[in-house]
Amino acid sequence: MRKVFGFREFRPNQEKIVRAILEKRDVFAVMPTGGGKSLCYQLPAVLLPGTCMVISPLIALMKDQVDGARANGIRAAFLNSSQLPEERESVMRELLSNSLDLLYVAPERFTFDHFRELLGRVNISMAVIDEAHCVSEWGHDFRPDYLSLSALVSLFPDLPVSAFTATATHRVQQDILDRIALRNPLIVRASFDRPNLFYDVRFKEKPDAQIVAILKANKGKAGIIYRTSRKSVNDTAAMLQARGFRALPYHAGLSDDERKRNQEAFIRDEVEVIVATIAFGMGIDKSNIRFVIHADLPKSIENYYQETGRAGRDGEPAHCTLLFAQGDIPKVRFFIDSMLDETERARALDALTRVTSFASTSVCRRITLLNYFGETYPHENCGSCDICTGTREVVDCTREAQMLLSAIVRTEERFGATHIIDIVMGSANQKIRDMGHDQLRTYGVGKGQTKKYWRQLADELLAQKVVAKAEGLYPTLYLLPKAVKILKGEEQIEIVRVLEKKAARAVKG
Ligand code: ADP
Ligand code: ZN
Repeated sequence: MRKVFGFREFRPNQEKIVRAILEKRDVFAVMPTGGGKSLCYQLPAVLLPGTCMVISPLIALMKDQVDGARANGIRAAFLNSSQLPEERESVMRELLSNSLDLLYVAPERFTFDHFRELLGRVNISMAVIDEAHCVSEWGHDFRPDYLSLSALVSLFPDLPVSAFTATATHRVQQDILDRIALRNPLIVRASFDRPNLFYDVRFKEKPDAQIVAILKANKGKAGIIYRTSRKSVNDTAAMLQARGFRALPYHAGLSDDERKRNQEAFIRDEVEVIVATIAFGMGIDKSNIRFVIHADLPKSIENYYQETGRAGRDGEPAHCTLLFAQGDIPKVRFFIDSMLDETERARALDALTRVTSFASTSVCRRITLLNYFGETYPHENCGSCDICTGTREVVDCTREAQMLLSAIVRTEERFGATHIIDIVMGSANQKIRDMGHDQLRTYGVGKGQTKKYWRQLADELLAQKVVAKAEGLYPTLYLLPKAVKILKGEEQIEIVRVLEKKAARAVKG
């Protein structure tokens, strides 16, 4: 480890895994991104005679891994469809002459008879399935060609087979174990805590301005901005470019060429920021990402964890901001409702509920994330999320809620949040005058608070199921049973408020 890799000590679990493999035992390891999975098989690959074969799903990932291994003097190569036939033949010759420690292959190779036949003639020391969650349909990036790997163990009856993943849910873990059928494997589950990541959830108000503020606080540092749609990716990238930031877009609608160019520019630090859909990220081995911004709601807690997990792989502090507004939910709902497959729809809906609850509660973000993965965090205060660092406070706003609710009642539940807020703030616009709403008793009662305050409160009333939004051409608000109790003063309502100054400091880390 010291001589070849230049590391002074093992990270948690690495030694245990290396020893098991050297004893020819199968291994199944779940370790978070940045946990140091590569060493777990690359070190045995160097120590054992023969070639260690690593099945890896992504071509880009393979090349990085091979480059990294070669830089350490390991004899490594890869085989995949991106190569010319001559290149592949040259790698096969190296393999046959026993001059490779490490060979990365794409899963589809196993469907070729001549590749299987070749394997019979070479000296393989061990097999590794990297990103093993790709075998599970429950995972976030299932790959059909990974299913062929269930035959791997029978293909190598006498060799140790190990499987690695950073995907943490127990369901996916069980699914992988069921499908790959390892033989009495050593099972390692590392902690999923990423102590160097700061988790921050902000009320999404003016996303462009909020993104710009974070970029300014992180000048010159590398970051990823995740957005849901290709259009918003393009718009945000253009907005940032116009303001002089070096930012590039990344999504499945770009040509392969452009995607590759933009990704490379980001990896080589030629641009600071990549604005991307979730198509970006898997296998991005960039260790110095200092911030990740989710400007839209992530698809699931799992996605959120993986996407934020790309920050701070070098162990240095990194900041993860989620911009969240209840108003984003209907868009996602609309998309989910249009899904044809019923199981998939139910799954997506469940994921949405969990992710919104993560963003809306005032419980430590780290505790919520780790709980999701079945892990108990040993402290009450993580000291490194918006909740625990007190960048928020809980405020009783029953009186203000009553103002909004009463305005909704007095206008017979026929208006949306914007108009209701105009009423309580006493705005003198045309619509208010035309409707005669400046004559209402609630008109102008809430002058003392800002528009932002009222919008956040309205958002909160939706989140806490005090009011609901009627679907239709104009989304109008109507009262739910809880609203009646609040109006009568039988129930209180509290909101979690961001304390702006402290929050700004937290961004700077
Ligand atoms: P993973 O694949 O689990 O995300 P990597 O294998 O890419 O993680 O390792 C993450 C980073 O940690 C890499 O930069 C790697 O060089 C470094 N690393 C791995 N093991 C050790 C160790 N024992 N000591 C110091 N750094 C390590
Ligand atoms: Zn916390």
